[in-house]
Amino acid sequence: MPSEFELINHCFKRPTRHTVLGVGDDGALISPTPGQELVISTDLLVEGTHFLADTNAEDLGWKTLAVNLSDMAAMGAQPRWATLAAVLPAPSFDWIEAFSRGLFDCADHYNIDLIGGDTTRGPRAFCVTIFGEAPPGQALRRNGAKAGDSIWISGQPGRAALGLAHLQRRTTLREPDLAHCLAALHRPQPRIELGLALRGIASAAIDVSDGLLADLGHILEQSNLTARLHIPNLPPTGLARDCWLSGGDDYELLFTAAAELDGAMNALANRLELALTRIGETAAGTPGELILSDDDGELITPARRGYDHFM
Ligand code: ADP
Ligand code: MG
Repeated sequence: MPSEFELINHCFKRPTRHTVLGVGDDGALISPTPGQELVISTDLLVEGTHFLADTNAEDLGWKTLAVNLSDMAAMGAQPRWATLAAVLPAPSFDWIEAFSRGLFDCADHYNIDLIGGDTTRGPRAFCVTIFGEAPPGQALRRNGAKAGDSIWISGQPGRAALGLAHLQRRTTLREPDLAHCLAALHRPQPRIELGLALRGIASAAIDVSDGLLADLGHILEQSNLTARLHIPNLPPTGLARDCWLSGGDDYELLFTAAAELDGAMNALANRLELALTRIGETAAGTPGELILSDDDGELITPARRGYDHFM
């Protein structure tokens, strides 16, 4: 069994690309780009709450970093550095090695340096803090939406929740849907490029981690607005619709932008080869209220808005 030192050196120490001093000292040294604001975010993943005990270790490594990158995307930040606190049960070296392979796959893909962390024994959990940069005043926030803005969602929400439902035998998916849904669940693709492109364009943004309606609720409450939603091609009923509206783990970007920019948004979707769907508009009214109707104008009352750890 390797010592803690050997484990860290073997699994979590890699050459860095834009760091003064990385893993191995009492602290890391970074040299932020002069004139940029630092954007900082932390996310915790706990076994049994955020991932199943039998999740593939390499996938989990990817996801641990990817969910933090999604917060950077939602801020319109360029992510650059990350730290990792790992709580591991009686160490299985192979498991940790596979986890680190997935984590560094994601780090390499998005050009992130892992610059430090902590490792300790206990029930499995991972906490990443991520550091990104944005030009002063340009980071995207939740509170900037204006009445009459269009509401947009990237990609295809609900897939990760459907994939999880399949694994829990609450539904049975068939190929090719099954592969798409499991990929969304295990290898979320944080929308960094979209977030960067939305600087100066989106009036508010959030990443969808707890369910589309729940996360839209946060934008509406913080911007003091109501939303009228009429979602094109919403699954007609049942689990697929529930997952679309209030499934967790999507890591798509939900954002608002002035209605004059609707055309620009379609051009952006083409450039990024990423679906951007207009799902409604904001309006003055009770903060946080959502009025949802289907293609025929019938009102829809969703069973719930999303996932809340304390309810
Ligand atoms: P200390 O006793 O000073 O906390 P550690 O032995 O915990 O030092 O860590 C040694 C070095 O390894 C530090 O630079 C720390 O940032 C880094 N480190 C520890 N655990 C991790 C991890 N899971 N991922 C990345 N770096 C880590
Ligand atoms: Mg330590």
